[in-house]
This record gives sequence, C-alpha cells and structure tokens, in this order.
Amino acid sequence: MELVIDLKEKSYPIIIEKGIINRVGEEVSKVYKGKRIFIITDHNVSKYYGDKVLFSLKNKNFEVKLLSLEPGEKTKGFNTLPDIYNEFLNFNLTRSDLIIALGGGVIGDLAGFAASTYLRGIDFIQIPTSLLAQVDSSVGGKVAVDLERGKNLVGSFYHPKCVLIDPQVLSTLNDKFFADGMGEVIKYGFIKDSNFFEFLYKMKDNEQLMSNMEEVIYKCCDIKRQVVERDEKDKGERMLLNFGHTLGHSIEQYYNYEKYTHGEAVAIGMYMITKISEEKGLTKKETAEKIKDILIKYNLSYEVNVNLKELLEAINLDKKKMGNDLNIIVLKEIGNSEIYKTTISFFS
Ligand code: NAD
Repeated sequence: MELVIDLKEKSYPIIIEKGIINRVGEEVSKVYKGKRIFIITDHNVSKYYGDKVLFSLKNKNFEVKLLSLEPGEKTKGFNTLPDIYNEFLNFNLTRSDLIIALGGGVIGDLAGFAASTYLRGIDFIQIPTSLLAQVDSSVGGKVAVDLERGKNLVGSFYHPKCVLIDPQVLSTLNDKFFADGMGEVIKYGFIKDSNFFEFLYKMKDNEQLMSNMEEVIYKCCDIKRQVVERDEKDKGERMLLNFGHTLGHSIEQYYNYEKYTHGEAVAIGMYMITKISEEKGLTKKETAEKIKDILIKYNLSYEVNVNLKELLEAINLDKKKMGNDLNIIVLKEIGNSEIYKTTISFFS
C-alpha cells in the first residue's frame, strides 16, 4: 500500500508493505541515485534488522556505514550530535549522499535532525520500526533533539525522501511499546474517524489486529497526511493530534518520564480530559466510558494514582512557558474533535 504526502516540492511517498525490510536496497535505488549511505539505528533494532538492511543495500552496490546507538530517549539528547557529525565526517559524507533512520521515534527524530543540519541539510529516508514511529513520528516532518531542560526543544521541519514501513518488524517489539503505539493508533479514531474506532473496538485479539496491520498503519498515516497537508507548521488543525497531550505530558513529567511511556500517558490523558469535557457538557455522554473500554482492551491504563490537583501543579510549573491561555483538544463525540480555547481553570 502506498500514499503520498503532498507538500508540493517536498512531497514524498510512504510505502507500507510486509517484508519491505528485505527489499530496502531496491526501494532506496528508486529515489536515490548516489552511492554512499549512512544508517543510524539503535542496538535493539540493529540486532534484528541491521544485517538485513546492510545486505539489501550492498546488494545494490551502495557503499554503506551503519552507526548503532544506545536505545532510549537519552540518545536523543543534543549532546549526541557532535559524535554523529564526527562519524559523518569520518565517512566523508557529502551533501549529495543519503542518511537512513532505521528505528523508533528516537532514531527518526535524531537522525532526521542530524540530516537537516549537517552541511545545511542532506537527504534522508525513514524506516520506522516501532508502532509509534510507523503511525506517527515518521510522518509529518517534525525532527528534533532534547535539551536537559525539556524534550524536543531544538528541532526543525524536515521531510524525508520516502518512508518505508514494514508491519512485520512489529513482531519483535515488546508488549509495552506495542501498547504505547496503540495509544496513538486509537487516538486517530477518537479525533477523526468513528468507523476506524469501531473497527479497532471490534478486533477479537492481537492476532486479528496484526493480520490487519497494513490497513491499520495505512489508515493512521492517511489521517495524519490530511492533517499535515492542511497545516504543515502546526498553527491550527495539526493541534488536534495533541488530544490527551496536556495531561499526558504532566503525567510523564510527574513520574519523571520513568513510569509511563508517552503513548501510555497520552492514553490516560485522553480519558481524563474527556471525563472533564463530558461533565462540562462539551462532549456527548458516555464517550469517556467508550474510551475507557478500548484502552483496557489494548492494555493501556486510563487513570493514575495521583489526583488531578497534584498533576495540575506539574502543569502549573509549565505555565510560564504556556501563559495562562490553553488550547486543549476536546471530542464533541468519537471521531469528531475540536480545539477549545480556555485557561488552566478548565481543570479545576
Ligand atoms: P524508541 O525509538 O525509543 O523505540 C522504543 C523501543 O523499541 C526502543 O527500545 C527501541 O530500541 C525498540 N524498538 C524499536 N523498533 C523495534 C523493533 N521493530 N523490534 C524490537 N525493538 C524495537 O521510542 P518510540 O516510542 O518509537 O518513539 C518515541 C520518540 O518519538 C520520542 O522521542 C518522541 O518525542 C518522538 N515522537 C516524535 C514525533 C514526531 O512527529 N516527530 C511524534 C511522536 C513522538
């Protein structure tokens, strides 16, 4: 399956296909006519797929270097960059060469940012391997690194030449990160597509879900495509993708980014915000209950052991950054979301 992100001269295809990880060389040679390729990955992903990708590229006579980094968010720190740029220089990587990001969102964001800045920008390709990266972070062109004072504080909008997605690689992803990605998958149903929500709701088990994974990933990428095409730089509609994120971020922060992954925290945030918006009459009754049901089904939590007041203090700490005004995303009903302008008092 294939779709194209239409951003004029920055347009690029997303190809979703089982087994494409074994045919990377072929796909890359369609969009890249140069010789040298620098792959950035992490140890977990490299263990399973590093050799496959190297083999396939070398088979097409590319000259390839693979750099494998420690897995985890810490690797996305700004301080990792000098080492990466040094490796680029050691490999004599020039502006007409190519970088491949092979991994989850950490590698995609980091390698994308390195590509966008090295020699003022060199081409890159995304091969996302976590569910979150396949349905979210590899689509839309946001790339970034973290500073000590916060995540994603330095970044740019920089689109890949293409995105190659192999649903089969999800078989090696652990349960926690699978559930994490499902949080984002379900979010697309909540904000834009009630049929998709129903489809996910009716899945019997993970086996049935996996056998429909190409379609599921396609659906998510397609929804994100439409939103990004209408609002590439995140000034309006793209904010809908942040459903559940205000509370989600404060949950992540409250637990020092240790207890919940991003997707898990956002899942809780989506339920909590909908409970509040339902009580305020902004959301159709029983929506929160449906959200709770589907989160349970996909092994996600819907509540935390801390009250809203304490979480709000975490938000309040951020207040200087956000001011008193808040744009939050609320559902009118499943499949229909809106940006709601309010203040921090919404939560009290
Ligand atoms: P991640 O990259 O750390 O991957 C999660 C874990 O799964 C890692 O341990 C990784 O090694 C492992 N892994 C990945 N693919 C695997 C596979 N196929 N088999 C076995 N193990 C595998 O984290 P993530 O959840 O993919 O991404 C999180 C990052 O994405 C955050 O830094 C977040 O800020 C960013 N993000 C960016 C955007 C965007 O638009 N750019 C959107 C959402 C999130």
